[in-house]
Amino acid sequence: TVVSWSRLLSFVSAWRNLESICYLLRFLSAPRRIQGARPVSLSTAAMGIFGIGRGGDGSGNRKLTLQDVAELIQKKECHRMVVMAGAGISTPSGIPDFRSPGSGLYSNLQQYNIPYPEAIFEIAYFFHNPKPFFTLAKELYPGNYRPNYSHYFLRLLHDKGLLLRLYTQNIDGLERVAGIPPDKLVEAHGTFTTATCTTCRRSYPGEDFRGDVMADKIPHCPVCTGLIKPDIVFFGEELPHRFFLHVTDFPMADVLFIIGTSLEVQPFASLADAVRSSIPRVLINRDLVGPFAYQPQYNDVALLGDVISGVEKFVELMGWKKEMQELIQRETEKLDAKDN
Ligand SMILES: [Zn+2]
Repeated sequence: TVVSWSRLLSFVSAWRNLESICYLLRFLSAPRRIQGARPVSLSTAAMGIFGIGRGGDGSGNRKLTLQDVAELIQKKECHRMVVMAGAGISTPSGIPDFRSPGSGLYSNLQQYNIPYPEAIFEIAYFFHNPKPFFTLAKELYPGNYRPNYSHYFLRLLHDKGLLLRLYTQNIDGLERVAGIPPDKLVEAHGTFTTATCTTCRRSYPGEDFRGDVMADKIPHCPVCTGLIKPDIVFFGEELPHRFFLHVTDFPMADVLFIIGTSLEVQPFASLADAVRSSIPRVLINRDLVGPFAYQPQYNDVALLGDVISGVEKFVELMGWKKEMQELIQRETEKLDAKDN
């Protein structure tokens, strides 16, 4: 036991060191877009012609199907699921895209003459004029939108003890509203549930500034009067510390689901390749993206098209249809009671 204790202690100290290593690595991990670096992706038709990702990988491995994945999970052979989610899971909730002309949010932002839409996530622009960002904040502050079928599917995974972690790129907070506990979540691009003073760095619950945000007032620090910024990750800013859970989560995962993301924003996108190569990866998305497009493996399963239909198909294979209905009804009633 002496030996195992010392091993345990060295593991603990290694774990602590990891924190400092992560600190050093942080600057490498600020969100950035891949520019022209994306490998050429074959169209689904071309893949059909060349037989890539269809009949196997040439090494004799049979191509995995969604049914196979469902059975692996049912047999508990896969029970440490990691999920990567993006905007596609929130579109059915009506979350507006601030870059889409025609949405109310887009026209609200137009009045500010922003040089280009992404400027609202740039820290220099924020200090120059925080109003456009708070227009977005007002729209996305918790309470305006409701989770949809995809969010509740992720909640059900958690209820069943299958969810190791959910990595989301979304800043709408709908994963939390759906009842997924914060410790199961990595909100890679930040959250409105907390906010930080840009001057004294004090941290506050986002709720403290709800009144200001809803009244179109720029929130200021009650201690030092500095400008308050919700904890949304701006371009060039470090990712939340929790993001580094990926160092242990992805190698530990025994199945990966990627739902509603174009896998274009780094470093998030690269996580799709951070799992062990032997585990099933399931993509539920409008299009074939990331490694599913340029380097499909025999254990990759892609459900293309409408995200909710894809999720429903999987739920049906798992035999969870009724449970999903009950969960959604229960949670909807809770939200209704809160609103009234
Ligand atoms: Zn302050």
